[in-house]
Amino acid sequence: MSYVVIGGGLAGLSAAITLQEAGESVELYEASDDLGGRVRSDYIDGYILDRGFQLINSGYSEIKRLQVIEEIDFCKSDRTIDVITPFGISSIGDPRLHPILATRSPLGSLAEKISVLKFVGDKPNSSISLRDALLASGTGDLYENVLKPFLRGVFLTDLENIDSSYGREIIKSFVVGDSGLPRAGAGALSEALGARVENVILNNPIDSLQQFAGKKVILATDAHTTAKLTRIPLETGFADSHTWYHALPAGVISSKRLRVTSTANPIVNSIALSNVVSQYAPEDKTLISSTAISSITDEQALNEIAKFWGIAPSDFELIKRYDIRNSLPVFKPGKNGVTSARINDELFIAGDYLTAGSQNGALLSGRLAAMESLAH
Ligand SMILES: Cc1cc2nc3c(=O)[nH]c(=O)nc-3n(C[C@H](O)[C@H](O)[C@H](O)COP(=O)(O)OP(=O)(O)OC[C@H]3O[C@@H](n4cnc5c(N)ncnc54)[C@H](O)[C@@H]3O)c2cc1C
Repeated sequence: MSYVVIGGGLAGLSAAITLQEAGESVELYEASDDLGGRVRSDYIDGYILDRGFQLINSGYSEIKRLQVIEEIDFCKSDRTIDVITPFGISSIGDPRLHPILATRSPLGSLAEKISVLKFVGDKPNSSISLRDALLASGTGDLYENVLKPFLRGVFLTDLENIDSSYGREIIKSFVVGDSGLPRAGAGALSEALGARVENVILNNPIDSLQQFAGKKVILATDAHTTAKLTRIPLETGFADSHTWYHALPAGVISSKRLRVTSTANPIVNSIALSNVVSQYAPEDKTLISSTAISSITDEQALNEIAKFWGIAPSDFELIKRYDIRNSLPVFKPGKNGVTSARINDELFIAGDYLTAGSQNGALLSGRLAAMESLAH
């Protein structure tokens, strides 16, 4: 039997790799000029610009299964984050790694910090929101000061929109693994996986499945394209995001930490990326990546980013802005991933919107779709 995978994001790549490993012949069709989907990097004037700020977690089960971290020259990021509060900047880290920082941090009591770890281990309750579940587990001030601002940048939406057991799984993944980036940008992950796929056809958007009659198809496009091609209505909602890359002269910012704010702000996080991985900027520059979850002008963004870092807006040079529609699926309270990828015996679907809005969710859904198609 020969297989076709449509879509070369992480889900499609994982599906193709799984099928090849099972000895099947696979053709992968990708609409754009390269593989990776939402995990791609652009290389502009000596800067590495990921298509939206994202970190790779070396502890993700699918990343471990694929043994790909060894191939991508992975640099760990700092586990401590800086929070801008009305009283100044406070740092908070993983209480297991930085017990002193955790005890002293004014952002929440030690008991509240421990309640987060307890929340991660608790039994899931899928009918309530992540906000309600975190508050119910006793996170108190820590929720308002740290969890809410940090996690809005993770889910790219407010936490009342997120299902609690889904949210718990994502939070769990931070507790178990190291986050970081490859020296050549997040897209290096897709490139490493793409190199394992034998037959890739780029620049080839598929607009009908009829041409694949007699073959088994795994449809791993974005959810909207899948809905169009299968004529099955889409049930999931999505969150958009906007990322600005600015340059500053090297040395103006020395922090390697992600910065978030506990005060209302359209910017959900900002980080001096080239302080984490020096290759992200030319030697005499620092590259700042800042993300918003509402659409604001470049000028509004710059003013807020400048306040984040306490630096005059005129010192920043805009390198590029990315508007990323449908950045992540939003699993509302009570909504879980699907249990089967099968549409019929010849057609299976894959993508993060079926499992979890993460690299791991996408890789897992691709592997599961491939396994289900092999079993039929
Ligand atoms: C800004 C941002 C930040 C994120 N941060 C993180 C993070 O820190 N950690 C984390 O784990 N995850 C993060 N994610 C999520 C993660 O990147 C995604 O969950 C994952 O990459 C989705 O992969 P996918 O294969 O399901 O979909 P996609 O990457 O969307 O892949 C779909 C592919 O199908 C192709 N395609 C579409 N139509 C057609 C067609 N007609 N014919 C052929 N091909 C087609 C597309 O070009 C694309 O390559 C982030 C995502 C974004 C956007």
